[in-house]
Amino acid sequence: MNEYDSNRIYDIAEKNNYKKTENSIDADCYVLNTCHIREKATEKVYHEVGRIKKEFRNKKKPIIIITGCVAQAEGEILLQKEKYIDAVLGPQSYHEINKTIQKIERDKKKINITNFDVNKKFDNLNLIKNKNSKVSSFLTIQEGCDKFCKFCVVPYTRGPEFSRSLDELFKECKELVNNGAREITLLGQNVNAYNNNGKKLSDLIYKISEIENVKRVRYTTSHPIDFSRDLVEIHKNSKKLMPLIHLPVQSGSNKILKSMNRKHTIEDYLDLVDMLKKNNPNIKFSSDFIIGYPGETDNDFNETLKLLDRVEFINSYSFLYSPRPGTPAAKMKNIDFLVAKNRLITFQKKAFAKKMQFKKRLFNTKSLVLFENKMRNKENYFFGRDEYLNSVIVKTKENLSGQIKEVNIINGNQNTLFGEISNKSINNVYAA
Ligand code: SAH
Ligand code: SF4
Repeated sequence: MNEYDSNRIYDIAEKNNYKKTENSIDADCYVLNTCHIREKATEKVYHEVGRIKKEFRNKKKPIIIITGCVAQAEGEILLQKEKYIDAVLGPQSYHEINKTIQKIERDKKKINITNFDVNKKFDNLNLIKNKNSKVSSFLTIQEGCDKFCKFCVVPYTRGPEFSRSLDELFKECKELVNNGAREITLLGQNVNAYNNNGKKLSDLIYKISEIENVKRVRYTTSHPIDFSRDLVEIHKNSKKLMPLIHLPVQSGSNKILKSMNRKHTIEDYLDLVDMLKKNNPNIKFSSDFIIGYPGETDNDFNETLKLLDRVEFINSYSFLYSPRPGTPAAKMKNIDFLVAKNRLITFQKKAFAKKMQFKKRLFNTKSLVLFENKMRNKENYFFGRDEYLNSVIVKTKENLSGQIKEVNIINGNQNTLFGEISNKSINNVYAA
């Protein structure tokens, strides 16, 4: 979401005659767009500001603005502690960026805008064209969270759940496609909680699939408890919706899920996985895991390992539990750090083996690849992604940007699959 936000910040600042610089030393204004989800977020901000200070020692000081969730969480403290910072803008206030820059230029006063006026933000953003021109583009459809998992800072930094209107999203999606986008990833902290005047995520997917040049649709991140029947069904009916579902589970233990306030059991999760697979056998899953949450025993951890075998996640993102200031879990007793670290290593080894198993199964098979861009440092090589988000590289002199081709996968490593184009262009992707 920060990538989407950063692009929008550029789109807005351009109206104020600010352009992207290639070299950081040429900048008149720095915007550090920050994430607060895990440890060391605030330290990273001070560190980066310190680096800029050094870089500009003998030059005119650039304007320094901190945006994103660290700005929201720390606000005034950042301004007090680091005088080099000129302004903090929370994630629901970045539409104020031009006014902020102009005020700093004029009054040389510190500015702190951290209110939650998300309606106003999108009303403002709707007036400014989205200039992002990547083949695979993000589109924020929903923000905020009402779930209050005990470990998570999002409800406090992004505010309550809010869904943008279907019409404005359709319009922005068309803009992205006109700029060259062919794959749209719909974003939200709880993307499947999307609900605007009764219109649901499945309605939005059907609607944007009507745009001919939208070739692929993805969405992330889903919460298991918001996975409604219509969303299950659309995975069978839509030809444009990709068969990879990112469905964070966090832990395999019911005791830990309850203590995290995840609002579902492992049995509920497995029922959902089975229903989705039955509905469409091509579907695969990826997930997020928190290792070493307060109260996690060897037994709980083994339940999480067991889940890796049961679901066969093709990608698992695992994080050591990190106490976030202001969250209920931050008041709980932490488990031993070394125990948690060792569990994380064990988990990641097993998850990696699963991922490689899946990749190897793709060798000597055909995949549909949407090509994005030429490789920067490798002439005559093109980069794309298959339906499961695997990176695929082929050798070719052709410009394949934006095209879907059938590729024979020959081999690969942990990061990339290598293949050859089987000379069949796939243009007959129907509207869902
Ligand atoms: N809304 C999504 C997750 C958004 S946060 C969901 O409910 O699944 C992205 C991921 O960061 C989470 O899935 C979780 O695995 C991780 N995360 C969030 N807070 C964390 C914390 N305090 N410590 C470690 N990992 C955390
Ligand atoms: Fe955080 Fe996701 Fe839980 Fe919301 S549902 S509190 S974003 S982990």
